[in-house]
Amino acid sequence: MAKINKCSFCGRSEREVNILIYGLDGYICEDCVEQASRIVKETKAKKNKDSKLQNLPKPQEIKAYLDKYVIGQDAAKMALSVAVYNHYKRLNHRGETDDVELEKSNIIMVGSTGTGKTLLAKTIAKMLLVPFAIVDATVLTEAGYVGEDVESLLARLLQAADGDVQLAEKGIVFIDEIDKIARKSDNPSITRDVSGEGVQQGLLKLLEGSVVNVPPQGGRKHPEQQFIQVDTRNILFICGGAFDGIEKRIAQRLNTHVVGFDAARNVAKIDKSNMMQYIAPMDLKSFGLIPEIIGRLPVLTHLEPLDRDALRSILTEPKNSIIKQYKKMFEIDGVKLTFEEGVLDYVVDKAIEFKLGARGLRSLIEVIMMKPMFEVPSTDVTAYEVTLEFARQQVENANMAVLKESTEDK
Ligand code: ADP
Repeated sequence: MAKINKCSFCGRSEREVNILIYGLDGYICEDCVEQASRIVKETKAKKNKDSKLQNLPKPQEIKAYLDKYVIGQDAAKMALSVAVYNHYKRLNHRGETDDVELEKSNIIMVGSTGTGKTLLAKTIAKMLLVPFAIVDATVLTEAGYVGEDVESLLARLLQAADGDVQLAEKGIVFIDEIDKIARKSDNPSITRDVSGEGVQQGLLKLLEGSVVNVPPQGGRKHPEQQFIQVDTRNILFICGGAFDGIEKRIAQRLNTHVVGFDAARNVAKIDKSNMMQYIAPMDLKSFGLIPEIIGRLPVLTHLEPLDRDALRSILTEPKNSIIKQYKKMFEIDGVKLTFEEGVLDYVVDKAIEFKLGARGLRSLIEVIMMKPMFEVPSTDVTAYEVTLEFARQQVENANMAVLKESTEDK
């Protein structure tokens, strides 16, 4: 009688399964292969999760990584690198019997729009070993109003952690446009302030560290919805905001403080072209952040305005710079893309002239590249040079108003 082969794992015979794979000394069926593969994946993922936090990137390594993608902004890069590194250290040494408790240092980054705050946050997210969520403070409203409750930002973090609450509780949240929830005036208003102080109070609860009920899919709460409890004690919060006009408050403060014997010398030392570097917590208060929030964001750092050299570097230097991206796109079609001397400087000049900032660089390059992008793939050229004359024509024909608008919405 012919021998019937059986899966060595589940024991089913060759007749009962679709595929039976032969090994040297046994057999395995398709179902057992799939199950084994799942076990391998899960075990590997768990090992990764545990071992990753052992090999912590040092602050200098984190900064070196940021340097590849973000031009300048050394002060902010250093503050972020140290905060993230310390965050990991705290997580690794949690619960050790010692009377020195490591407190977390949430960060606030202040800098004009388009100077790289979100880029820094996104770049750091790429190298992070913990879940990371970016949320916009402008969508947050006080509970009960149209918009998202403050808790929804934890729902995003939970999503980033694939629903793993423990993992989310070690995560990092970047809150963009924190300045938009500032109180409109320094005097607390007696009328309800939907988007300002109420939201700040809600946020404060998260920053301080508490157990928060998070609706599972974020968004609105319904009475029948099951809440997930998330402890925010070990979540690192990084906030960013443009704080438009804060330079004036800084200047006022510096002026009023510089009195007396040393005054003249100190005034001379102030670099008026970059007031942001002198930012202090009290400026945030006078802008309308409540002192309790400021107290929970102990690391205050600033981003520099981008000068001509920085804008020029942004075009070509970052690892995935705009120019590198276009060159790559042409390369895929077998075309070598080059720019005539002066084209990139011209683009930078226009971005400055029209006050388009770093975001404008991309819009300008897009305007210039539209025609070649449309035409070149249908030809058999192997090289294409963007001349200064062509770049000028394209920009001059473009509607600057549209260009400006396209850089305003992110
Ligand atoms: P912010 O959040 O400060 O308003 P973003 O980080 O969104 O500004 O910057 C907008 C775009 O401008 C980025 O996607 C990036 O292409 C470019 N950019 C801004 N600042 C820098 C920088 N320092 N280095 C490299 N690119 C930058």
